[in-house]
Amino acid sequence: MTSKRKITVAYGDGIGPEIMKATLAILNAAGAQIEPDVIEIGEQVYLKGISSGIEPRAWDSLRETKVFLKSPITTPQGGGFKSLNVTTRKTLGLYANVRPCKAYSPFVKTHFPKTDLVIIRENEEDLYAGIEHRQTDEVYQCLKLISRPGSEKIIRYAFEYAKKYNRKKVTCMTKDNIMKLADGLFHKVFNEVAKEYPDIETEHKIIDIGTALIADRPEIFDVIVTLNLYGDIISDVAAQVTGSVGLGGSSNVGEEVAMFEAIHGSAPDIAGMGVANPSGLLNGAIMMLVHIGQPEVAEKIANAWMKTLEDGIHTGDIYQESLSKKRVGTQEFAAAVIERLGQAPASMPKASFAKGGEEGGGKMRLTERVPAKKELIGLDVFIDWKESGRDSNVIGDRLRQVNADGLKMQLITNRGVKVYPDGMKETFCSDHWRVRFFNADESVITHDQTIEILKQVKNLGFDFIKTENLYTFDGERGFSLAQGE
Ligand code: NAD
Repeated sequence: MTSKRKITVAYGDGIGPEIMKATLAILNAAGAQIEPDVIEIGEQVYLKGISSGIEPRAWDSLRETKVFLKSPITTPQGGGFKSLNVTTRKTLGLYANVRPCKAYSPFVKTHFPKTDLVIIRENEEDLYAGIEHRQTDEVYQCLKLISRPGSEKIIRYAFEYAKKYNRKKVTCMTKDNIMKLADGLFHKVFNEVAKEYPDIETEHKIIDIGTALIADRPEIFDVIVTLNLYGDIISDVAAQVTGSVGLGGSSNVGEEVAMFEAIHGSAPDIAGMGVANPSGLLNGAIMMLVHIGQPEVAEKIANAWMKTLEDGIHTGDIYQESLSKKRVGTQEFAAAVIERLGQAPASMPKASFAKGGEEGGGKMRLTERVPAKKELIGLDVFIDWKESGRDSNVIGDRLRQVNADGLKMQLITNRGVKVYPDGMKETFCSDHWRVRFFNADESVITHDQTIEILKQVKNLGFDFIKTENLYTFDGERGFSLAQGE
């Protein structure tokens, strides 16, 4: 008999306590070796004036157990309360969001009965770094940051996940036809990591057509790995097409800690009525059992749960007059699952999880690399300017005078499009100009030259709002060309 694994448990708000009670009853009856350490999160904590919604001592429990089974919570409106999910994810470094999306047709209505895919979304980088600036009267900026280690970690996680769960294909989705450097890095790292997994089929899809295919032919996908924003969007598309938003579980996995929950919220409209479906949280708990190395128990529960659906024992949210046999409440549903422990579904494939799941499954190896040789060869200066009818020839002709030891203006763009020299009069110009400086032969420049450029730009009366250094890495350009350059 294995010793009991301590886990942190939060009963949450709304229907949270009811579905947690049902879930833990099933886990215990199935023989899960767990010892819950209960912490308080959510509404009560927010209302005590703790804006993160989680008490300081709860972090100690999470640090000790490293596994968090969490019921949904209610985020009070207004009042500067922060999303507990975002706080937990960032504080504990939960870099992978894993969302299986599976159809349980005909028990859950869907047009796509064969759907069985898993979305693995990068959770920490991309536009979600939240670095935003208003730079001019008219223009706002949000920085998209993609790192090599961040990409490698999530991509290797996706392949390891595919291996562990016996999945055949990993699809990478990016928009690297447009964002050739940032999304291009993600795609490049995907191709590199894929070579380590020759038994797994791989493919890449541009995110727009990829999303359309999820909505139209979800059965062609198996595991999908993608960047933060795209992952956020396609997770909802995929959950919607399977019809099982109310049944889905998800995990947020970090190097040390992992959090497991239902996709849905705290459903305050039905709280306390005893009618909530506990399946979402139960599916999260099944993922947790695999994570902590108890896949046999996970299988036993998943099979009994599918058999319960098959037998027509349904909570109100999935009840169908023509198909369901009995409408049950939360605890009655749990009792029906418990009654079926040891049985398997007849019409759906039996659950099968890889054995020997290891703890700390979120720790991913990073490839050792020699850093590239970085050389400064130019400077982009961004300028706020809206005089002279925003005539690009006026700003261009003035900045032509700037010269720092041969470092001179080569072109100007507005919102990425070249407008000087030889701009088109049809191009609309905002008050946000990017002025690019190179030596005529694009040779290496010095920081002193860049500082001299800024002095001269200032002396001409321009407000420079930011600069970007233009580097090469091992001789390869580390910046994009202007549209029309
Ligand atoms: P919701 O998912 O709670 O509810 C949407 C609808 O689905 C409601 O009609 C609800 O009754 C129904 N529903 C949800 N779960 C159900 C279940 N298990 N069984 C039967 N019916 C179910 O979404 P919402 O109403 O937009 O959000 C309510 C609260 O939940 C908000 O405070 C929100 O911030 C919070 N929320 C929390 C989480 C989380 O903690 N992870 C996630 C999403 C929303």
